[in-house]
Amino acid sequence: MRFIILGAWALLFAWNQLCATDGNQSVPLREVVRVIAPGVFDYQSSDYLVRFSLWGVGFPKNNQPGYHQALSFCEGKLLGTKVAVVVKQEFNKANIKLAEVFLENESDSLNLQCIKSGVGWHDEVESSRHGPFVLSQIRSKRANLGVWSRDFDYQQKAGIDAPPSPILPSIMGKSPFFSGLKYWVTTFGKVHRPECSFYQRGRGELTSRPRGSDCRICGGFKGRD
Ligand SMILES: [Zn+2]
Repeated sequence: MRFIILGAWALLFAWNQLCATDGNQSVPLREVVRVIAPGVFDYQSSDYLVRFSLWGVGFPKNNQPGYHQALSFCEGKLLGTKVAVVVKQEFNKANIKLAEVFLENESDSLNLQCIKSGVGWHDEVESSRHGPFVLSQIRSKRANLGVWSRDFDYQQKAGIDAPPSPILPSIMGKSPFFSGLKYWVTTFGKVHRPECSFYQRGRGELTSRPRGSDCRICGGFKGRD
């Protein structure tokens, strides 16, 4: 009797393992509990929650254009489905594990999908120029998708402290189209200049070609004369 039970249990265990793997990856499929930010999510392992970040993909930060699209893309993909997580690096700078994530019944990893659709970009340093990511990014750039459709430098490193690099000052003139001046346009259509205290506050978008009503404090697109 004992052997029969043991045998049945072993069979059940083997069957469970088989169902919980996706073809070539022998990684268990599990649920994502919540999505923290684009590409960052909590995953329920057998014993505890583990936070992962998508390996080799960069995303807009929460004050940058495209953040909400990237977040809802990741939520749509990760929530309510089973995923297989392949750890690529134990910890990144923020002490989060980096992983390539495979979704049930989808052949492209989520990492690749994010780069293909342009909701994120390829972090070549992190991935050491992973071939499929490089190729997909060439295509999404060419097709002007997502982050590539916006006139915004996501990879600007230093921000306000860095001195502005003069680019051909002779042709810059006073035209805002050449000066690199970015206006902040809120979702309500108010245009602010960088010196304004409302610049990059709340939801909005950075652009050198603002459309909207000028802020009365900073003068917006026209400026104060
Ligand atoms: Zn303003």
